[in-house]
Amino acid sequence: MSDCLFCKIAAKTIPAKLVHEDDQVVAFDDINPQAPVHTLVIPRRHVASMAELNEADAGLLGHLLLVGNQVAKQKGIAEGGYRLVVNTGRNGGQTVFHLHLHLLGGRPMHWPPG
Ligand code: AMP
Ligand code: ZN
Repeated sequence: MSDCLFCKIAAKTIPAKLVHEDDQVVAFDDINPQAPVHTLVIPRRHVASMAELNEADAGLLGHLLLVGNQVAKQKGIAEGGYRLVVNTGRNGGQTVFHLHLHLLGGRPMHWPPG
């Protein structure tokens, strides 16, 4: 989608600190990190939010999660633990309407989140 920030990051027309890319997903560090490690994993395909997905997207979703896991290992936080979050819609706290998985770690996470 031409008017989407994360589509532009995936297409490299807006710069970001990319930490992983493959044919389906791109991962880059969050511009406003909430933890020592804060990386976003996004599908290359424009999907506005988790709420748009269905059974046909199970493979993409699985891959998104596994890349989160892989980046956690790459960044050295897999052993200590980390959090994967998908904010969805207004009440979910979503602000960028291109699906993204937050990988947060490098410090203890609190529960419940705000
Ligand atoms: P959410 O609130 O779940 O929609 O998360 C959107 C995330 O995108 C926030 O954590 C922002 O800090 C992050 N973000 C916004 N613009 C950029 C950007 N240009 N590069 C990297 N991360 C960004
Ligand atoms: Zn997009």
